[in-house]
Amino acid sequence: MARRRQLYEGKAKILFEGPEPGTLVQYFKDDATAFNAQKKGTITGKGVLNNRISEYLMQRLGEIGIPTHFIRRLNMREQLVREVEIIPLEIVVRNVAAGSLATRLGIQEGTRLPRSIIEYYYKNDALQDPMVSEEHITAFGWASTHDLDDIVQLTLRVNDFLTGLLLGVGITLVDFKLEFGRLYENDEMRIVLADEISPDNCRLWDAKTGEKMDKDRFRRDLGKVEEGYQEVARRLGILPEAGVRDMKGPEVMQ
Ligand code: 5GP
Repeated sequence: MARRRQLYEGKAKILFEGPEPGTLVQYFKDDATAFNAQKKGTITGKGVLNNRISEYLMQRLGEIGIPTHFIRRLNMREQLVREVEIIPLEIVVRNVAAGSLATRLGIQEGTRLPRSIIEYYYKNDALQDPMVSEEHITAFGWASTHDLDDIVQLTLRVNDFLTGLLLGVGITLVDFKLEFGRLYENDEMRIVLADEISPDNCRLWDAKTGEKMDKDRFRRDLGKVEEGYQEVARRLGILPEAGVRDMKGPEVMQ
């Protein structure tokens, strides 16, 4: 296999130059970090499951007209995506109180929120992704008012759709984080959904028992971390055919 140029290595993914201009290969690692990388570990098979789960959810969102960077899955750990200019914001949507919202505002975890709440965080590891307001975003030029309008509209549609899809398989979508990018095509710019949607960046609870099936199992040392991710894939009907035995997958090719 030809060597590929690595463009970026993040905590859970590596980006390589894609086969055609304007494309990238997104490689999903088993590495897991939490609390701004103060806690590090490996979740065996996570990369394979997140690749598959994110493919599935991005495809379903594409079908309802949400523009995404996803093109196609290439293999167990890699997907081909469009190269976009990443907007340096994490868009968090919350339906149920948990995590930093529960801590910061003293709201009991599990309390259903009166309505879905969107929060913005500035993507900056050195600053530990601080929460910011629309004022900061537009004043510092991270996104225009128009970009933000698009982002909010898309985010609310994603939340509505995923809430229903997941509830259909017995999962409560508690909260999640999205990232968006600018896609330039024929002198036009469109905001598209980028990154991934997986148990790494969503809180997913069993709708009946409230059991956690996401990265909080790793963050909070709850055990059965791999099982949580597998259960999400199983309920979505997309557990890889090879099962979990082969999930260590190939070493990253460069
Ligand atoms: P919280 O602010 O409660 O820690 O996180 C809210 C939601 O956004 C959770 O579903 C969490 O997984 C996701 N999230 C927030 N920041 C990050 C981040 O830096 N990386 C990932 N993977 N997810 C995040």
